[in-house]
Amino acid sequence: MSKLMKSVSGIRGIVGDSLTTELVLSFAKRFGVFSKRRKVVVGRDSRTTGEMLLNAVSAGLMSVGADVIDLGMCPTPTILLAVENLNADGGIAITASHNPQEWNALKLINGQGTFLTPAQSHDFWNIPEDELKDLDWAKIGSFSQYGCAIEDHIEAIMKLPIIAVDKIKEKNFKVVIDSTNGAGGLMSPLLLKALGCEVIELYSEPNGMFSRIAEPAAKNLGALENEVKKYAADIGFATDPDVDRLSIVSNDGIALGTEYTLLLAEKYVLSQKKGNIATNLSSSMASDVIAKENEVGIFHSPVGEINVAEAMKEHNCVIGGEGNGGVILPDLHFTRDAPLGMALILSYMAISGKRISELAAEIPKYYIYKTKLELDENIEFDAVSESIIKDFSTKELDTQDGIKIIDSEFWIHIRKSGTEPIVRIIAESSSEDKSKKLCEQIIQKYFR
Ligand code: MG
Repeated sequence: MSKLMKSVSGIRGIVGDSLTTELVLSFAKRFGVFSKRRKVVVGRDSRTTGEMLLNAVSAGLMSVGADVIDLGMCPTPTILLAVENLNADGGIAITASHNPQEWNALKLINGQGTFLTPAQSHDFWNIPEDELKDLDWAKIGSFSQYGCAIEDHIEAIMKLPIIAVDKIKEKNFKVVIDSTNGAGGLMSPLLLKALGCEVIELYSEPNGMFSRIAEPAAKNLGALENEVKKYAADIGFATDPDVDRLSIVSNDGIALGTEYTLLLAEKYVLSQKKGNIATNLSSSMASDVIAKENEVGIFHSPVGEINVAEAMKEHNCVIGGEGNGGVILPDLHFTRDAPLGMALILSYMAISGKRISELAAEIPKYYIYKTKLELDENIEFDAVSESIIKDFSTKELDTQDGIKIIDSEFWIHIRKSGTEPIVRIIAESSSEDKSKKLCEQIIQKYFR
C-alpha cells in the first residue's frame, strides 16, 4: 500500500489505496469543525477521482454543520480567491497538484484565502475526536453551487493596474497554451482570449488523463515546444493540473525552465513598482541579482508556499514566489497563481516591446542541479547537519530549513523531506557541471 502523506497543508495519497473515502470524510468533518461549522468553499482539479472526493468532502462538512459552497472544477488559485470573495470561513481544494493522475489530495485553506499556517495546521490536528460526531438531522449544513469563480478570477486579474490590458490587446500575441488536461483548460484560454491573444490550445480538455508528465518542467514540454515552432507563436505557456505552476516556452520553441517564470515576473513588477521581494531558499540566486539591480530587499523563506507568503507579508513584498513556476502577487492574493503569471509575462512583453527570448536573455544565467537520496537508517540527519555547519563555518549559512551554504558564486541547500525519509540536495552555480559536482561532493562526504 502507498503511504498517506501528511503535511501542513493537508493529506495526499493514491485514491482507493492510501487515500480512502472514509479518511476523506473524517478529514472533512475535522475541517468543518475547524472552520467553526460555518461557510466552506470546495473545488477540485480535473482528476477522475475529483468528483467522488468532492462529494465525500461535502458530506463530511455538512454532517458537522458547515455550509458548503461547491465551485466544481477550477484552478487552485481560483478556489483560494473565492474563499475571500465569498466571505467564507475556509476552503478545501481537492487536487494532488503535479502528482500523477492516480494521486489526489485535500489542501486546506483558511478564511484569509491562504493555505493553513503551521500553527493553524497544529490546531486543526488537535481537534478532539468526539467533536467530529454527526449532528442531529435538523442541524446539518446547507449545500449550494457557485458557477462564476473562474469569471471572477479572470475579472480580478484584468482589473489589476499592473496588468497592461490595452497594450497586450494591441499586440495581438499568438499564444500556445498547454493545460495538460488539468483544470487550466477551463480558464487559461478564456483569460488569454480576453487579453486579445490568438490562442492555440494543447491538452485543454479537462478530463484528468494527463497527456504529458504533469509537472511543467522543461523536459516535459516537448509537444509545446513543437507547437510554438509550428505556429510561429510569440510564447507558449504550460501549467500543472491545478494551475498554480507556470512554465514558459520562448518564441524560439525552447522551454526556459520553471525558474524563469518567477524571474521574469520579478523583473516586470520591479520595473513598474519598487519594493521588497521574497523567494524560498531553493530558488535561483538570479533573484538576488535582480533585487540588487533594483536596489530592493530580498528575503528567503523555508520551502513551502505558505512560508513564502508569510515572508512576503512580514516584509511587505511587491512580488515573490518559488522557482517551481509559482508566482505570488500580493495585489491579488498571497498564493501562487499561474493565470496571473501569464498576464504579468504578457504585460512585460507588451510594455518592453521585446520578444520573450530577448527578455529571457537579460536574466543572469545560473544552473540549478537537484538530487535526492534515501536517508540511510544509520545516518542521523541532525548529526550530519552539525558536521556540515562546522566544516562550512567560514561560509554564510542559513539554517531556517535544513542547511544552506551560501557563497557569492554558488549555493548548496541540504534539506530533509517532511513527508518521506529522503534528503534533497540542491546546488546552483555558473555551470551545470559545477552544480552537479557540488551536490556529489556533499553526498560523498556526508551521506555515504
Ligand atoms: Mg500545483
